[in-house]
Amino acid sequence: MEEKKTAIVTGASRGIGRATAVELAQTGYFVVINFKSNETAAQETLNLVRSAGGDGEICQFDVADHAQTIEAVKAITERHKHIQVLVNNAGITADGLFMLLGEEEWDSVINTSLKGFYNITKPVLREMVRKKCGSIVSVSSLSALMPNRGQANYAAAKAGIIAASRALAAEVARFGVRVNVVAPGLIETDMIKEAPVAEIKKMIPMARLGTPRDVAGVIRFLCSSDASYITGQVIGINGGIC
Ligand code: NAD
Repeated sequence: MEEKKTAIVTGASRGIGRATAVELAQTGYFVVINFKSNETAAQETLNLVRSAGGDGEICQFDVADHAQTIEAVKAITERHKHIQVLVNNAGITADGLFMLLGEEEWDSVINTSLKGFYNITKPVLREMVRKKCGSIVSVSSLSALMPNRGQANYAAAKAGIIAASRALAAEVARFGVRVNVVAPGLIETDMIKEAPVAEIKKMIPMARLGTPRDVAGVIRFLCSSDASYITGQVIGINGGIC
């Protein structure tokens, strides 16, 4: 019997993570919808996944918490045997000028994006390598490549994801595991509620913000067999900023 394809999407209760969960479900993945605290929103993602003809489950854990994440991956692996796809999407911002940036703002952003990458990728990877099959896509940011003032913590976390992914891609390519990164520009989600959108739009050649679907479609492609010779890459999704 053919094994069911399973994907984990972290931070999938809304925004880019939610769109990615729906997109992967439409291509046949059973999607594990990770959330940290908003169960109602995660359930809404699951409803959307099912309305799109797919299936999945919600799964609460904090990617910044090493022990919690290890436990969660162990339980997911017991239930689903093999995870073919991991999308490291969970992320937060805590902006502030570096001179005023508190330790909590530094640590929380690094711990969610970069330590979170370590916490979940390592246990998921073990099984992918054993089965010689898997695709890991992590959500970085244009901020990693063109950092903004007030975002030293975020830019560092997102640049760290790129460097770690490239190193990892080189390590595991021979085992059939691909590791790629997407670097979105400004995407219309709750995360950018406070951003000066009108000002930023002037710098985008396409003169519009991206949608969560714009990012999810690229993630879906990177997880598919159409991308079977792509690893260690960073794909910008930013309306033409270069
Ligand atoms: P969002 O705030 O709507 O979504 C972030 C998600 O991550 C939420 O579901 C949140 O609950 C979850 N999350 C946060 N901390 C978590 C934790 N410790 N454990 C598990 N889940 C956690 O914003 P979004 O725009 O959808 O962001 C998704 C990803 O895209 C983030 O990594 C973000 O940095 C990145 N990104 C966003 C933009 C943008 O303009 N919106 C641009 C570039 C990159």
